[in-house]
Amino acid sequence: MSLNFNFSEEQKMLEESVYRWATSWLEPQMEHAYEADEMPSTLFKETANLGINGIVFEEKHGGAGMGYVETLIAYENIARVSNALSMTVGASQTLCFDNFRRNATEAQRISVLPKACSGEWIGCLGITEPNAGSDAMSMTTKAEKKGDRYIINGSKIFITNAPVAQFMVFYAKTDPNAGPKGISTFFFEIDKYKDKGYKCEKIKKWGMRTSPTGLVTFEDMELPEENLVGGLNKGVAVLTSGLCTERITLSGCTLGSQRSCLELSIKYAKERVQFKKPIAEFQSIQEKIADMYTGYLASKWLAYSAASFCDSLTNKSGGKGTDLDRMAAASLLFCGEMGTKIALDAIQIHGGYGYCTEYAISRHFLDQKLWEIGAGTSEVRRMIIARELYRDNFQSGR
Ligand SMILES: Cc1cc2nc3c(=O)[nH]c(=O)nc-3n(C[C@H](O)[C@H](O)[C@H](O)COP(=O)(O)OP(=O)(O)OC[C@H]3O[C@@H](n4cnc5c(N)ncnc54)[C@H](O)[C@@H]3O)c2cc1C
Repeated sequence: MSLNFNFSEEQKMLEESVYRWATSWLEPQMEHAYEADEMPSTLFKETANLGINGIVFEEKHGGAGMGYVETLIAYENIARVSNALSMTVGASQTLCFDNFRRNATEAQRISVLPKACSGEWIGCLGITEPNAGSDAMSMTTKAEKKGDRYIINGSKIFITNAPVAQFMVFYAKTDPNAGPKGISTFFFEIDKYKDKGYKCEKIKKWGMRTSPTGLVTFEDMELPEENLVGGLNKGVAVLTSGLCTERITLSGCTLGSQRSCLELSIKYAKERVQFKKPIAEFQSIQEKIADMYTGYLASKWLAYSAASFCDSLTNKSGGKGTDLDRMAAASLLFCGEMGTKIALDAIQIHGGYGYCTEYAISRHFLDQKLWEIGAGTSEVRRMIIARELYRDNFQSGR
């Protein structure tokens, strides 16, 4: 019996429609947008029209009722043109809104998800703090209960989309003496709190330009207790299960860049003539192309098998102590590191032209490095994989 590694007709149509849109709508504006570090203002309306925004949400909430495999297909195909904007879409739809959806009450879902699906609202997720990065549990943002309200104080750094977002999900200590068991998840509509304890400053970056990143500050921001999601002091389960789907689907950002680097390099190597021959004929260039292809294929099937495993689970959820936790970490670890290697090889094949901003290859290279850092660094992913392997001695074989 063979294993079926083929996309269904519906999945192929999704791949084609997203890539067609990315090449016709995104590509012509990318060089300028990257230089200016500006997200195209109608991006989320465009992705709404493509059905990407609520891809895993139920139809009654405005979604498409698909799975994480389809999410990965969508993110890979946006990233074939822009890794950064694929991350921005993923940060809003997967990190923020999907995480919210999986933990919210039905009433909370109804009030939020349709606005996410239509592109009216862009979302962001706040875990990282200036002094709590890899050690996220050491966060110090506090939510102190006063009557029926929580008073929020603290800050969150490197928050994708914060400078343009209308909705935020974040984690804060509700019981600072209880360690990880004292963390809760909150959400709020950003526009209601501007000048009422919420501030955001845009951070300048050399890569992932066009994807806006912010430093968020909370100063005595008062949130009603209804803005708690997933239960009091239950934030760690929300956070770790969210990180699983985040690591799997955002592997698509690096897959898209890997694929483009390979395609652009094959084309360039065939066209570029040196020593009276296309450089494609030189063995050292062929080695790079062959290694890029092999790396992409290995990355692709690792990520898609993790997404497919996630879709096969009844709750489509991972978190600490699950096989999915290990697979998700492995997916982004391998894809992230392979993506950097492939992007470096692509620059080398393009020679001096690869060093110029006019060539898309330079953006893939600059964006790609983030995938060894964001969503938990490579070092942290290795720690998770080892922890989960020691837990079950690899009994599941996954
Ligand atoms: C462009 C961008 C977008 C981002 N988007 C978001 C977002 O939307 N929301 C959000 O909450 N965060 C976001 N982040 C933050 C990101 O998740 C963190 O940068 C990441 O988790 C690492 O934290 P840190 O930068 O504080 O590094 P640190 O934790 O300070 O790590 C520094 C170095 O030390 C290593 N290190 C740390 N601890 C260990 C250890 N125990 N063993 C071995 N090595 C270790 C790290 O691997 C790293 O190499 C984003 C970051 C960037 C750059």
